[in-house]
Amino acid sequence: MTLEKTDAVEVFAAGEKGRGLRTTKEMLAGEVVFSEAGFAAVVFDSLSMQVCHSCFCRQANLHRCAQCMFACYCDRTCQGAAWEEHKQECAAIKRLGKAPNENTRLVARILWHTQKHTGKVSDNQLTTLDLLEDHISDMAPEDLKELKVAVHNFLEYWPSNSKQYGVEYISHIFGVINCNAFILSDQRGLQAVGVGIFPNLCLVNHDCWPNCTVILNHGNQTALDTAFHSQRRIELRALGTILEGEELTVSYVDFLNLSTERKQLLKKQYYFDCECEHCSHGIKDDLMMGTQEIGGKKPSVDLVKQVANFSLQALSKIEQAHTERNFHEVVQICRECLEKQELLLADTHLYVLRVLRMISEVLSFQQQFQEAAEYARRMVDGYAKLYPPNNALLGMATMRAGVTNWHAGLIEVGHGMICKAYAILLITHGPHHPITKDLERMRTQTEMELHMFKQNEKVYHSMREVAVHNKPSASQRGKVQ
Ligand SMILES: [Zn+2]
Ligand SMILES: [Zn+2]
Ligand SMILES: [Zn+2]
Repeated sequence: MTLEKTDAVEVFAAGEKGRGLRTTKEMLAGEVVFSEAGFAAVVFDSLSMQVCHSCFCRQANLHRCAQCMFACYCDRTCQGAAWEEHKQECAAIKRLGKAPNENTRLVARILWHTQKHTGKVSDNQLTTLDLLEDHISDMAPEDLKELKVAVHNFLEYWPSNSKQYGVEYISHIFGVINCNAFILSDQRGLQAVGVGIFPNLCLVNHDCWPNCTVILNHGNQTALDTAFHSQRRIELRALGTILEGEELTVSYVDFLNLSTERKQLLKKQYYFDCECEHCSHGIKDDLMMGTQEIGGKKPSVDLVKQVANFSLQALSKIEQAHTERNFHEVVQICRECLEKQELLLADTHLYVLRVLRMISEVLSFQQQFQEAAEYARRMVDGYAKLYPPNNALLGMATMRAGVTNWHAGLIEVGHGMICKAYAILLITHGPHHPITKDLERMRTQTEMELHMFKQNEKVYHSMREVAVHNKPSASQRGKVQ
């Protein structure tokens, strides 16, 4: 196998893990190791009318493609930028009479792209689709059956005037998507909105405690001067100093699972056994299953088991009530569960953290900021003991908790958290990402309010009171509850 190079990275044989990527020079925290436009990306079926098919931003009032009546865009600029990608898809959807599902659309986009670029996007492309793993030989019989149906549906959609491929090759592409696709989120990082294939990124191996993170840069097509336009791309960003020659890693799963659970998730979706340091030594598992200690005494094993089982059942009820949007019930079960967990489970226990996350989110959605603020603080304190310091999920959670505390009138805590979140997102998302820019504005605003608060507390609170009561929904809800 020939090893290929770009400026800062090269492919190398990473032992049992297959191929990997490593640096050819030292990288610093927040540095973009590489960015990649990728082969193709599609919006999820369920959001096809709420998310722009070009920049993947969530927007109200999208314009629909007049030809296929399927693809939606922010405006003509986004539509124009996406036409090359959409042209053949548009005709195929029109011919079929409906849009096929997201995976079929993605495979088709990949193959059209490959034809146009004969497999390689540019000299910076370190691999081809043919070389990527599909893990079809590891698939369970029912997954193989599904794959067969998917290929059949694809062949119905694929136009006869495009280059034809054998069933085996099409299956390979479906397999590649299955274990290599990257999920794209909206511009506020709040929702997963689509899926794409970025071949260089596929070469970056997993570690539960990684040295890099990936984010989607939505690009900018809005500037009047096209010289300032930028393309949608993913960025691999260094989370700390990475030495020359060190392997680059990202995490494919959320660290907030026990090592055994993470290993299961990875095996199921990506077909490998994680042997990272954190999994091998079960690092932090003790905190994630931690118990309280009262007067140097731990609660009995039976009691802890009882509460853990109760929590598991409660969490599934909470999940159910949340899907049914029965928020009153969510809050009620959460409160009951937290009461049972108190004095027994540590605040870093995963079941406590899951309940805290749910109740703080629902209460702040209902604008009951006072109660939400305390739960959010406890949750972020727990997260900070578990996550690596520069983790995007920790940053986002800290930001939300900061906003909740700010809205609750706890300006000192709120400002402190917003500053912490800003410091994390500068590294994980970079200074130009819309979320980082939001945070920067909030940091300035809370800093000003904090200044006012320190000068005259009374005036500050009466001002906030007015601000809150000017929002009719907030004051009405305040009276009811
Ligand atoms: Zn757009
Ligand atoms: Zn169209
Ligand atoms: Zn691991």
